Amino acid sequence: MMTNMSERSPSQGAVIELKDVEKSFGATKVLTGVNLSIAKGETVVILGPSGSGKSTLLRTTNRLEPIDSGEIWYHGKPIPREGRELAAYRAEVGMVFQQFNLYPHKTAVQNITLAPVKRGKQKPEEARARALRLLADVNLSEHANKRPGALSGGQQQRVAIARAMAMDPEVILFDEPTSALDPEMIQEVVHVMKRLSADGMTMAVVTHEIGFARESADRIVFMDEGRIIEESDPESFFTNPRTERAQEFLGKIL
Ligand code: ADP
Ligand code: MG
Repeated sequence: MMTNMSERSPSQGAVIELKDVEKSFGATKVLTGVNLSIAKGETVVILGPSGSGKSTLLRTTNRLEPIDSGEIWYHGKPIPREGRELAAYRAEVGMVFQQFNLYPHKTAVQNITLAPVKRGKQKPEEARARALRLLADVNLSEHANKRPGALSGGQQQRVAIARAMAMDPEVILFDEPTSALDPEMIQEVVHVMKRLSADGMTMAVVTHEIGFARESADRIVFMDEGRIIEESDPESFFTNPRTERAQEFLGKIL
């Protein structure tokens, strides 16, 4: 059999793989030798102190930032750099942000239908019906025609998750989805994420919600100063962290 040099064999079951990824902003090295593989159906929780490179890791995976060296593969192929291919990749690998990033002048349902209709994935009526189902899934049926400004933070973030789901992504990357929320709204968003995880969605989640990590994570990745310094199952990580940095970090948040 001939082997195609540009299509290397991915690790068993890997959907996304980062290989020796390096990234600097000016003189600041933000990612150093990052290797990470995310398997189909897996929920990977990324922990680490502020500034350790967690957001940059997710942003480079979604190619919101280019990398300096190394490789990021999706199903064993380098992720696209630009154009239609990149847009198609982002439809497969969606992202949910701390600040929701909803369009302020559009209603909840319009926020959800915009991308699938624009990308020709669904016809408008079809997209609307699906958006209403997705809003029902996140318990927001009564709020379908409200603009983000009329919704609470927790409601806005659930719209953002429904919007990500509308593209039928294979993977969703969550960057601190509950960090901008008042405490009483955190659980309604965590509840939606727990359900997605239990339903088999492939997810990489940066979060300080330890309840979510303990219950839903298949694996914890701990970052410090741009490196992954620990990777283990949640039980081992929370009860018996190996590195001093992880022990110190858990001491502060637990
Ligand atoms: P975390 O999400 O773990 O808090 P980040 O990935 O946001 O960490 O940031 C890691 C480091 O990279 C920090 O020192 C931050 O200041 C720096 N950084 C992040 N984004 C940029 C940027 N666009 N320009 C310059 N520096 C950045
Ligand atoms: Mg961050």
